[in-house]
Amino acid sequence: MAEEANPFESLQEYVGDAAAYLGVGEGLLTRLQNPERVLETNLTIELDDGGLETVRAYRSQFNDDRGPYKGGIRYHPDVTRDEVKALSGWMAYKCAVVDVPYGGGKGGIALDPRSFSTGELERITRAFATELRPLVGPDTDIAAPDVNTGQREMNWIKDTYETLEGTTAPGVVTGKGIESGGSEGRLEATGRSVMLTAREAFRYRETPLDGVTVAVQGYGNAGAVAARLLDEEGADVVAVSDSTGAVHDPDGLDAQMVKEHKKETGSVTGYVDAAEELTGEGLLTLDVDLLIPAALENAIDETLAEEVRADVIVEAANGPLTPAADDILIERDVSVFPDVLANAGGVTVSYFEWVQNRQRFYWDERRVNDELETVIVDAFDRLIEVFEEYDLPNLRTAAYAVAIDRVVNAHAEGGTWP
Ligand code: NAD
Repeated sequence: MAEEANPFESLQEYVGDAAAYLGVGEGLLTRLQNPERVLETNLTIELDDGGLETVRAYRSQFNDDRGPYKGGIRYHPDVTRDEVKALSGWMAYKCAVVDVPYGGGKGGIALDPRSFSTGELERITRAFATELRPLVGPDTDIAAPDVNTGQREMNWIKDTYETLEGTTAPGVVTGKGIESGGSEGRLEATGRSVMLTAREAFRYRETPLDGVTVAVQGYGNAGAVAARLLDEEGADVVAVSDSTGAVHDPDGLDAQMVKEHKKETGSVTGYVDAAEELTGEGLLTLDVDLLIPAALENAIDETLAEEVRADVIVEAANGPLTPAADDILIERDVSVFPDVLANAGGVTVSYFEWVQNRQRFYWDERRVNDELETVIVDAFDRLIEVFEEYDLPNLRTAAYAVAIDRVVNAHAEGGTWP
């Protein structure tokens, strides 16, 4: 097994590669590779049994040249300062790829949510929101859900912020419940942009999506929705996995039924209509047309990259390939459609939610989905244009080139002062 890549170093490498094509000078490159500031703090809360617990929390504000910092908050035992810094940079460049007027931010708390009661999680979330209050707001920094957080946590953060500020400000977070100012279509937005990217990828390759075989690693919000929508578009989802294992059926799985099974049992394994069970790694090396990593970073390293048999990878997760894996996949002629495009549906519909919050005027789901499709297809076309025009090694470099160009232009227009 290759040494685990540091996601922040991966981000810096991607930015450096693309900046070199654009001729960005050293002085500006440092800015493009590092967050503007990082909050690192202790949250100490009272447990249900009266004891105290302290957890470590982070918020990285990467860049606000194009608008307020924007990005999710993750609850996971492996959260580190470097992971949060990397994820905040990905957000800055993702927002620029799809041209939504935001910068990038990300937060995380190093904890396993399964070890805490709902009341304890609420106290931790409200403690974090209290720490964040001077740094966030609808015009400065806007949080959203990420791994192991969702509408519930966003509603708590919004309520804490509004209570402390003595106002109503639903735009301080996105991904809220509908009654708290959330948007129709937000829950499915990331999976939808994964499906749209895959659809456009196969159109670009002049292959119909109908009958394309698909394996999905990670059957959570992003992966399960992408699988269901691809199924509806005529693709054959033949294998899916989660942290407990994988199921495979060469004749195709019913994506929605697997999701129901996971909801009931907590796992995709044991799904009776699957022909066989696989290991997680077995899924990543299946002979399929399309592989969708939708779990966590560094899922495919250089060793696994040698064994991948898919023709196309669409990254639903953030940073699922290490840079070394990327290099091998270029050599092996596997087309990788990068995270900053493919999973940008989440932040795009978050932007729509924020626009609706500011206008206090709400859209129906059809409008949200139509506007999302326009954004993703336009971004896809721009990325292909740049990829072909500059003869770039892969679509990731093209995506970063598009994004960095926009961030650099915004910075230049603002000028340097004093
Ligand atoms: P989630 O918690 O809903 O789902 C994650 C899934 O991955 C779970 O089913 C989990 O069991 C599975 N998993 C974890 N480790 C695994 C492993 N080793 N092998 C196989 N499966 C494993 O999270 P999500 O919201 O779907 O996010 C998944 C990825 O997508 C993350 O990288 C996240 O940053 C990214 N993303 C999510 C959104 C969003 O709106 N949800 C937006 C942009 C990016």
